[in-house]
Amino acid sequence: MFRDEFYWEDEGYNEEEIRALILDRIEQREKKVKRAMARLGQSDVSQSTSREPIPDDIKLFVWQRDGGRCVKCGSQKNLEFDHIIPVSKGGSNTARNIQLLCEKCNRAKSANLF
Ligand SMILES: [Zn+2]
Repeated sequence: MFRDEFYWEDEGYNEEEIRALILDRIEQREKKVKRAMARLGQSDVSQSTSREPIPDDIKLFVWQRDGGRCVKCGSQKNLEFDHIIPVSKGGSNTARNIQLLCEKCNRAKSANLF
């Protein structure tokens, strides 16, 4: 009985060697888990800035702030939520970085960026 788990000798190690191996294995596992969790944490952060859709409450806020119309031409047709600073260039999913644009103005804007 060791750390609430059973281990037994099957490769001719003595008790002390087995204990060392077990400790080593536990340590490796803990390191692996920590590394995996760190990676998970990082991917969570990058997802919230790049892949996550715009949250509904942000959309609602932007929609009301911009009066339900395109901020460029005032059109109320084919409206889209546009990132002022593109997410790929470090823009965030916050109301400050999102505006309402109609499809036409949004396309024109993207065209200017390239
Ligand atoms: Zn427009």
